[in-house]
Amino acid sequence: MVMKNENPYLLLTPGPLSTTPSVKRVMLRDWCTWDDDYNVGVVQVIREKLVRLATANPANYTAVLMQGSGTFSVESVIGSAIPEEGKLLVLANGAYGQRLAKIADRLRIPLRVEDSGETSPPDVAALERTLREDPDITHVALVHGETTTGMLNPLTEVAAAVKAAGRVLIVDAMCTFGGVPLDVDQLGIDFIISSANKCIQGVPGFGFIVAQRDALAAIEGRARSLSLDLFDQWKTMEEGKGKWRYTSPTHTVRAFAQALAELEDEGGIEARFQRYTQNQKVLSEGMAELGFRGLLPAATQSPIITAFHFPDSPDFEFKRFYALLKERGFVIYPGKVTDLNTFRIGTIGDVDEKAIENLLKAIKECRYWV
Ligand SMILES: *Cc1c(COP(=O)(O)O)cnc(C)c1O
Repeated sequence: MVMKNENPYLLLTPGPLSTTPSVKRVMLRDWCTWDDDYNVGVVQVIREKLVRLATANPANYTAVLMQGSGTFSVESVIGSAIPEEGKLLVLANGAYGQRLAKIADRLRIPLRVEDSGETSPPDVAALERTLREDPDITHVALVHGETTTGMLNPLTEVAAAVKAAGRVLIVDAMCTFGGVPLDVDQLGIDFIISSANKCIQGVPGFGFIVAQRDALAAIEGRARSLSLDLFDQWKTMEEGKGKWRYTSPTHTVRAFAQALAELEDEGGIEARFQRYTQNQKVLSEGMAELGFRGLLPAATQSPIITAFHFPDSPDFEFKRFYALLKERGFVIYPGKVTDLNTFRIGTIGDVDEKAIENLLKAIKECRYWV
């Protein structure tokens, strides 16, 4: 059966994003959460594939799936990993870094936040100093791709500093996992978090954590929440061979399995990274030609999402621009930077260079303020 893509417009957003018709089509079937067809045939396959996507050396890692949007998985890790006598250092440079801090604050976890400002990457020398001077810090958390600005943070350098100082490393790789190559074992990442509806190109409904096995074994009994207890979720999944503790989003999970198969068909993470990188290149070059200024320099710009300054015109209004583009079949994203007027365009999902070229043509037509 060939099904037409029913989307009235393309989502150029950081997730939920445009998915393929085939990912949507596999959701037409219902699943029993007690049956091996689902647990062994779908969930366990996903868990194993996620670990292999995360590292070329999978023996020391395992994957846990968690109900909810990505933030639930982040909260699950922060709320479960840090012991009562522990302290979390958060490296923040945007809304998602600040959310890591907010979660810890809400859970009354001792916290230190180093905020480098929304347009600057974290200062690794300052991090090394902080870790030397503050022995109470047991865990460090950062966002890999900060969706607020589109910045790709220096994960390799941060990870090296955290590991050299013997601390546990938590990475929110929500909008990069599956779209930007990395190796958790090589980097020494203890917990990495992402969700179904970002670069793997599934639909929303759950997140996942790839965890270092010893680091995970160490957190038993620490959770500050029942439903978000990472250790218990893992134990049930491991011992029950794909069993979730509570009702899982079965259709979403099945769609995710299809999305993983399509990632393999595309040629894996490296090929997807190349496609996203090409999308972003075509976008940033085309936007520059149309007179838009990008927020970030190329050195820190990720291929995931790009922030642009509002045009220098008193007539420009984002809402009107958005509506005109939507009429032409493209949905873009509002800005999130605190002190600057920006809007954002995502380059992930079932989107290719041709689609970005069509977007640029539409943007050219929509510049009513020029
Ligand atoms: C999308 C995203 C999240 C999670 O957001 P949800 O709305 O809870 O799915 C967390 N961190 C980053 C960097 C993200 O891009």
